[in-house]
Amino acid sequence: MTDRTGDAEVDALIGREQLRRTRSLQLIASETEPSAGVRTAMASVFDTKYAEGYPGARYHGGCEVVDDVERLAIDRARELFDAPYANVQPNSGSAAGVAVYAAFAQPGDPVLALRLDQGGHQTHGSRANFSGRWFSPLHYGVRTSDERIDYDQVRDLALVHRPRILVAGGAAYSRFYDFAVLREIADEAECVLWVDAAHLAGLVAAGVAASPMPYADVVTVSTNKVLRGPRGGLILAPGRHRVVLDKAVFPFVQGGTAMNAIAGKAVAFAEAATPEFAAYVRTAVANAAALSAALTERGLRIVSGGTDTHLAVVDVTSLDLTGVEAQRRLDAAGIVVDKAVLPFDTRPVSQGSAVRIGTPSVTLAGLGTQDMPLLADWIVEALRSPVGSRDDGGPHARIRGQITDLPAG
Ligand SMILES: *Cc1c(COP(=O)(O)O)cnc(C)c1O
Repeated sequence: MTDRTGDAEVDALIGREQLRRTRSLQLIASETEPSAGVRTAMASVFDTKYAEGYPGARYHGGCEVVDDVERLAIDRARELFDAPYANVQPNSGSAAGVAVYAAFAQPGDPVLALRLDQGGHQTHGSRANFSGRWFSPLHYGVRTSDERIDYDQVRDLALVHRPRILVAGGAAYSRFYDFAVLREIADEAECVLWVDAAHLAGLVAAGVAASPMPYADVVTVSTNKVLRGPRGGLILAPGRHRVVLDKAVFPFVQGGTAMNAIAGKAVAFAEAATPEFAAYVRTAVANAAALSAALTERGLRIVSGGTDTHLAVVDVTSLDLTGVEAQRRLDAAGIVVDKAVLPFDTRPVSQGSAVRIGTPSVTLAGLGTQDMPLLADWIVEALRSPVGSRDDGGPHARIRGQITDLPAG
């Protein structure tokens, strides 16, 4: 694609980034490439329309067209996720989360969520985030035996501490959640069940993962992750919370919303209802399983023994590496991942003993399960080799050369 701004410095940066992408494989679990249609909507005239408020009740004139855009996006989101209520205005998944806190909790209230260092997310009570500073975070974790969520612990903590919100969802937890059990716990503890489906929503739309909608009081989504939409957020809920959630998004958290992103969301929601989208997600999940199995055969341990989703956490302690060094070695070979921590990691979070891998990007670029053994070979070889100088002709340079030959490269 020829993206030219006419600004020489910015154009040079765009060119460099395009080159970086063609020369490397993106295994960042949260990244996908939106369709040309979504991109067109993002670059459209809607970018510059101010539209504070909601369709039919705006603070600005000239909103008759964007009102229809927003209604279309809402209708499509509701249909895609079988949700009585949808709010398409959040500017990101995190902003959707802020609105959930605003709707259901007061500062200081206890909130119970998955530990950040066991796959959770910083917006679920990290001390470095508003959620941990302005609310009282409580955390459940995974069992040592199988590294899956300890639902007995969730129940015990919920009944003792009576959180206002029970949160399910994470950025580095590769297993499905038991929404029925979480609903029971939320009922027993009389709290709100918030499913943060930032990653999971794409799998739900494709019919690959069970929907949280029948169980949750509120569901948040990042539209730019597996879902392949524009950068942005989405809130879904049963109809009973519509007023409080609308008010939480606007005017409590946000001002004018990104109408171009809302147009992009409308396009993405329609695309996500197609068989082609379902096939892409099915392949991404099959690729993650195949890559996990291939890495296991080559002596690497996958947290919880595998994955149900498009992402997996790979333990690199058997190679005597930190997560940081593993990320660096893979990067040198043109394989882009995130450093991560293991559940019960003995290293500090800044180092970690794992990397998180995700398959949506390489799946969209054309890789299938048949390519995963080769990718696993490269990953293991890159991890085993210390990084030399960038063009030393060593294993990393050799792998980088081969990547360019792939459909994804
Ligand atoms: C990515 C993510 C978010 C934040 O989404 P942004 O759109 O990046 O703000 C929130 N929760 C979870 C679980 C995530 O994975």
